[in-house]
Amino acid sequence: MTTPDRQGDRAVERACAQAVAAADWLAGTDPQRRAAVLTALADAVDAAADELVPIARAESALPTARLTGEVARTSGQLRLFAEVVRDGACFEVTVDTARPDLAPPRPDLRRWLVGLGPVAVFGASNFPFAFSTLGNDTASALAAGCPVVVKTHPGHPRLTAATVAVARRALAEVAPEGVADGIVTAVGPDVETGVALVRDDRIEAVGFTGSARGGLALQRIAQDRPRPIPFYGELGSINPVFVTRAAAAARPREIAAGFVGSYTLGAGQYCTKPGLLVVPRGSGMRGAVVEAVAGVGAQAMLNPGVRAGFLAGLDHRLALPGVEVLLPGGVDPETAAVAPSLVAVPIGLTADVPDLLEECFGPTSLLVEYEDEAELADLARRLPGVLTATVAGEVGEPVLAELLPLLEARAGRVLWNGWPTGVAVTWSMQHGGPFPSATTALHTSVGAAAVRRFLRPVTWQGFPQDLLPEALRDANPWRLPRRVDGVLRLP
Ligand code: NAP
Repeated sequence: MTTPDRQGDRAVERACAQAVAAADWLAGTDPQRRAAVLTALADAVDAAADELVPIARAESALPTARLTGEVARTSGQLRLFAEVVRDGACFEVTVDTARPDLAPPRPDLRRWLVGLGPVAVFGASNFPFAFSTLGNDTASALAAGCPVVVKTHPGHPRLTAATVAVARRALAEVAPEGVADGIVTAVGPDVETGVALVRDDRIEAVGFTGSARGGLALQRIAQDRPRPIPFYGELGSINPVFVTRAAAAARPREIAAGFVGSYTLGAGQYCTKPGLLVVPRGSGMRGAVVEAVAGVGAQAMLNPGVRAGFLAGLDHRLALPGVEVLLPGGVDPETAAVAPSLVAVPIGLTADVPDLLEECFGPTSLLVEYEDEAELADLARRLPGVLTATVAGEVGEPVLAELLPLLEARAGRVLWNGWPTGVAVTWSMQHGGPFPSATTALHTSVGAAAVRRFLRPVTWQGFPQDLLPEALRDANPWRLPRRVDGVLRLP
């Protein structure tokens, strides 16, 4: 519990009490009712787009078209989780019927997944809708039956308040009085309030999207509580792109244009931005990339804080010995727009200076040239955990047999002749990877499987039917897919 001596602490106190008041109702909703909650939020976000987008526009430098697209993505995510809940496989219902004839006799065992309880959600500045108040962490927590307390991001506080108001109006239509206001609330935006939220004993898990620095600081707080809780941090990543010699020979300009489009998209402010391009020396790729970047204009960054952080990171990189500046970038003194930059380093330097393989959030990337394709595998072995790893290649190249398993070992998503920016919200999407791209490699924050983070397993042993949760009864009133005595049964 927090001491209510600060306004932020009082807000945490109120929000956690409201979340607890909503928790039992939400956890007890059947799939149809829970899906109705998610669908009501999706419809409300869509209906409020004209109100919300201008607020987001005023608080960030993101263009209207991008924000409108993000609203659609956000409602799409909520609808996907409604489908996930209705489908019911996410509850992993498993029944082993009693076998008194066995020695020793086997009791009746019924296992399923239940929500953890109130979840704290920290969104990132670069997605004020899709990774924020009603974003994927919130949608997946609600799908698990968990109320959410959002830590307001200082990059979009008015938008967070307006989104919560929209959510409350919608929830009042589908949830009982006294419950609706606690399903999604927000506190903050100051740092201390976020810390108080994670420390509050009523919070059962944290979903975080943001920087490694912030994520690791909050993870420590979650772990240092008297009762530690799961912390799911989706952090940044270098997202390497490996270009084979055959691909570079076949289509250098196409690959260069695709890479430049991807790393400069949205002023490089995507966690999936390709921050490392590995190309064969003497292939013409380097020249093609420089030429393609030279045609990209300066772009506004999200806010002055993100711009300052980017420029400091870039200065650090440019000051490293051995770094060759291919395009310096720079800031327009009148508009503060930032031009894309590109630097090259000898491949060996990435071994000596591990900083080079860390995310630099903004419009810059690193180009590395190799002589021998064996160097691709050497570099892949040294990669930190990444959200994505991309290969631009040609079918049948011998180098792929060694390279692809190495990339699978390091990345959450491995791409073939594509670009990592743009994350489809689907059943099979994986967004998250080995540390440091995420605090745990076991989960995803995007796509249907994200719900698993906020569910925990419980087995009921030996209960009569009418004392079991409805989901576990033989009559299967929730019509859930189940594994009964080892055999998968669909409703
Ligand atoms: P950020 O600075 O880490 O902020 C995220 C949230 O955490 C904010 O509410 C922030 O509040 C809070 N926070 C940060 N440090 C904290 C600390 N030490 N103690 C308590 N709270 C703290 O991240 P951002 O700049 O908004 O987002 C950009 C980053 O997000 C990039 O690195 C990008 O790659 C990453 N990102 C990752 C994904 C993904 O899915 N993997 C998606 C989008 C973005 P304060 O600002 O008040 O500190």
